[in-house]
Amino acid sequence: MIGFGQAGGKIVDRFLQYDKETGSNIVRAAVAVNSAKADLMGLERIPEDQRILIGQSRVKGHGVGADNELGAEIAEEDIDEIQSAIDSIPVHEVDAFLVVAGLGGGTGSGGAPVIAKHLKRIYTEPVYGLGVLPGSDEGGIYTLNAARSFQTFVREVDNLLVFDNDAWRKTGESVQGGYDEINSEIVRRFGILFGAGEIGEGEEVAESVVDSSEIINTLSGGGVSTIGFAEEEVETASSGGLLSRFTGDDSTDDLDTANTTNRITSLVRKAALGRLTLPCEIDGAERALVVLAGPPNYLNRKGIERGRKWLEEQTGSMEVRGGDYPTKATGRVSSVVLLSGVTNVPRIKELQQVAIEAQDNIDEIQQESDDNLEDLVNDDSDELESLF
Ligand code: GDP
Repeated sequence: MIGFGQAGGKIVDRFLQYDKETGSNIVRAAVAVNSAKADLMGLERIPEDQRILIGQSRVKGHGVGADNELGAEIAEEDIDEIQSAIDSIPVHEVDAFLVVAGLGGGTGSGGAPVIAKHLKRIYTEPVYGLGVLPGSDEGGIYTLNAARSFQTFVREVDNLLVFDNDAWRKTGESVQGGYDEINSEIVRRFGILFGAGEIGEGEEVAESVVDSSEIINTLSGGGVSTIGFAEEEVETASSGGLLSRFTGDDSTDDLDTANTTNRITSLVRKAALGRLTLPCEIDGAERALVVLAGPPNYLNRKGIERGRKWLEEQTGSMEVRGGDYPTKATGRVSSVVLLSGVTNVPRIKELQQVAIEAQDNIDEIQQESDDNLEDLVNDDSDELESLF
């Protein structure tokens, strides 16, 4: 995982925390890249020697100030420094690269597509992007940055997974507190998705385990992806107590199969019809993957099969995959639905519209202030001459 810019670094940091808490082993290696020294110092879990400060000669460690063209330029100029951090990673052990960035700012917005392009040229592993769209209250320049970066980033990655801050913003919260919560929502969804492909030998055997190749196949073909999520608390015997000692994990073997199946099917529906990371119409999605995570005795093939069929009907896609992700004693059954190759996304169209308006506005203001400055500096009847 490569976190570019402040949001990117913080989200990758958060993935490392998730790995530690859940033992998921999603992140084989993490790198943070930034032009702002303070942002790199604020990270907690990304190893210090994997935090790369770029653009030092240009911006002296102070960041690019939401100028994403400058962000792209310095990423290009310092690509060798980023590459040497990646050189220390055993790339043959990774299934894919994930480049994470907030698209509204400068460093990540400009730099993420640059590093994605570079990685694709050098490695055969897939390169995915996780791009965060700004809230609509952040202002025109952020929207313009995001619209331009989005366009470029989609082109340079094998698939762009999108998270829209605007759909997740809560009122009455400090920005920082809000981001902390949003970041944990991001990591929970992607954690289950990517964690599903990481089941090692000797771990709980699922009826139909999701393999990393199924995630890769779902994401292949490029384009834009979104993720839905739903979960439900269930009782687990392994939460301790006398009963669990006698019956161990088998105590729920006689769970009503019909109930289990129905729960799974409704969780799949809730995930696909609820709030997606990027809200959109699911009809027309090219491919999808359903992952059901939870204690093994709460998972069954029939439920997933029914959820899968339902999703085929809803999306009109013939490529809907599904599988289990057995987790020990979590007390929850969770469903993650990955919708890949979505094209009916009103939010993107709206973002582009606002971006064009902002661009026109900026050009107009620039023109006006050039004229005004000209007026101010020169005397009215041009009687004065400049020195040289
Ligand atoms: P950069 O450092 O120049 O790449 O810019 P930032 O990453 O600070 O900000 C870019 C955009 O990312 C902002 O406009 C916000 O929309 C978003 N953002 C910033 N921090 C976070 C964060 O912690 N979580 C999320 N989800 N979004 C963030």
